[in-house]
Amino acid sequence: MSLLSLTDVHAHYGHSHILRGVSMGIEAGEVAALLGRNGAGKTTTVRSIAGTEPPEVRSGSIRFAGTDITEWPADDIAAGGIGVVPEGRRLFTELTVEENLELSKITRGRWNRVRRRVAGSGEPTMTIDELYDLFPRLEERKQQQSGTLSGGEQQMLSIARTLRLPDLQLLLLDEPTEGLAPQIVQTVSESIRRIADEGLTILLIEQNVREALSVADRGFVLDQGEIVYEGTADELEDEDLDEYLVV
Ligand code: ATP
Repeated sequence: MSLLSLTDVHAHYGHSHILRGVSMGIEAGEVAALLGRNGAGKTTTVRSIAGTEPPEVRSGSIRFAGTDITEWPADDIAAGGIGVVPEGRRLFTELTVEENLELSKITRGRWNRVRRRVAGSGEPTMTIDELYDLFPRLEERKQQQSGTLSGGEQQMLSIARTLRLPDLQLLLLDEPTEGLAPQIVQTVSESIRRIADEGLTILLIEQNVREALSVADRGFVLDQGEIVYEGTADELEDEDLDEYLVV
């Protein structure tokens, strides 16, 4: 059984029918990539799964660790083990790096509200020290106001912050390398691989196929709200998918 499975998901924003029967399965322990051009529906897929700024899922189902979470609110999904690093980073820019990491721990009150649905300890997936081991650059800059960090450092902080959620099993990363300089892209990609090595399952949303396939085990190609191709990273490399992708 897949850790996450989407079955024939149709998602709408008002009159716009965006996802048109998306089915996909993410296996525990893998890094899967969701690829596709601008407007293909990648972010809509992330929002449908995580319940953040959700489109209306009118039919189909989303199951996580054996439970149907299609109708769950975002807080419950987060506490249940799915973390999202959204497009655009969304840090508390006035606060320092360390303050961002401290604040991101789920509060006891919020945990009490959601714990009716989820098992687990409520303790952060990673301590701040563990995150500094993963991202030494953040430790060097822990007292710096996060709004003054470089784009790559902000992206690392955004990822690190999400790892403060409790009992994470699945991390959804929405275009983590967008707008970053090539050298920083590589640093961020290496950290994603290390997070996967810690045992987290990852769904990586990317437009840049080469970058995604350097990290992912498997990929799905989304076009106009439909999965048009699914294969291993090697199969995707060999396939001519230029029509659907930015290469
Ligand atoms: P990008 O790489 O540009 O973020 P994407 O593949 O993530 O693209 P989505 O953001 O999922 O694509 O957008 C898919 C379609 O849904 C687009 O046509 C977009 O205009 C539309 N859309 C997204 N959000 C909304 C919204 N809140 N209301 C109405 N339409 C929306």
